Amino acid sequence: MRGGSYRDGAVVVRSHDFGEADRVVVLLTRSHGVVRSVAKGVRKARSRFGSRLQPFVRLDVQLYPGRNLATLTSADTVAYYGAGIIEDFDRYAAASAVLETAERVAAHGEDPALFDAVVDALARMQVSAHPVAVLDAFLLQAMATEGWAPSLFDCASCQAPGPHHAFHPGVGGAACLNCRPSGSAEIDEQTLHLMWLLAGGHVAAAEAILAAEGGGHLGAQAHRLTVAHLQWHLETTLSSLKVMEQR
Ligand SMILES: [Zn+2]
Repeated sequence: MRGGSYRDGAVVVRSHDFGEADRVVVLLTRSHGVVRSVAKGVRKARSRFGSRLQPFVRLDVQLYPGRNLATLTSADTVAYYGAGIIEDFDRYAAASAVLETAERVAAHGEDPALFDAVVDALARMQVSAHPVAVLDAFLLQAMATEGWAPSLFDCASCQAPGPHHAFHPGVGGAACLNCRPSGSAEIDEQTLHLMWLLAGGHVAAAEAILAAEGGGHLGAQAHRLTVAHLQWHLETTLSSLKVMEQR
């Protein structure tokens, strides 16, 4: 089935050299999900088209569907988010984790809400003093777009209103005293409140809590729970999240 060409919004999630002068570019598009494409001839000198095909750029692309790889014939820059990210290791690692997670979560088709969450996260990441919180906000919003966001206030099992003090991805998030499975994480109710702010897109309010807290315990616990929930549902570990753990 080969349709005609189409335009779409896109960000590059991954790319590698291909043949003599081409690049394979994996795109997260706004309306066609993850698209694997080839950009022909872009490694020749002075290809301005090729220089735009990098992470942290929002593009307007033209694609021709193909059997295995689409052909990427043009790309215009809509927004460049690299400034503030590429020279800062923590922001770079967090922004890379946004892109890697987006590719994994989006693999099954059109997802405008996910695409919009990616570009919002990249824009916010450029100036954030709390890149991990920006990442966690994205991860929670991405899980919500896929229908498996953790419950952060009510018990995920019996819906008893919180706040609760246990969390387990296997039951779907927060758990009350009656429902908590063995092996649940013991948690501060402030941590779930912080995650609730991040999930709702109230990132500035969450960053204010983190700035006031100092020690970093709440932010670290929120990140552990968010990643645990994500990886439980993806049934895999993501390499960019592992890089961040090693810091
Ligand atoms: Zn319960």
